[in-house]
Amino acid sequence: MCVRAHELLAGQTDHPLHVGITEAGTVFSGNIKSSVGLGIILYQGIGDTIRVSLTGNPVEEIKTAKLILRTLGLRQGGVEVVSCPTCGRTQIDLISLAGQVEEMVRDMPLDIKVAVMGCAVNGPGEAKEADIGIAGGIGEGLLIRRGEIIRKVPEEELLAALQEELENWEA
Ligand code: SF4
Repeated sequence: MCVRAHELLAGQTDHPLHVGITEAGTVFSGNIKSSVGLGIILYQGIGDTIRVSLTGNPVEEIKTAKLILRTLGLRQGGVEVVSCPTCGRTQIDLISLAGQVEEMVRDMPLDIKVAVMGCAVNGPGEAKEADIGIAGGIGEGLLIRRGEIIRKVPEEELLAALQEELENWEA
């Protein structure tokens, strides 16, 4: 109904439209509903400003809104983090590491893609599309730049090593 309402309104006025999904719910369900709803609306070229409404910390609303715009190609800049889904080959605590990386890069003034992969077998290959990445091994990890392994570091230093690379990043 919300999508249809935006479509009908957009067809009847040239006024700027502030679009959003009302009463979307908690952070989990609200993120999903907002992403699907706003994705459909914005993809049609409807909307001039957006809002995300969540029953949760308002900071999450901003993070979600930025990511929706970035995913649709409507916002440039920022660090995009991609990560593998983990599998039997995962040798490190990738779930926690991916979260830490996401947190670390959130306000970095870069426009790049960072990959966080669980193993050294497929990680480097799968991280080829990323500007920089890390892949876990047994007690250690690899730093990868555009698919090429640049160095090996102990697992506990992986995050700091990635941070150092990003802080000194030159495209
Ligand atoms: S990168 Fe490695 S750990 Fe991650 S899903 Fe692929 S094979 Fe599994």
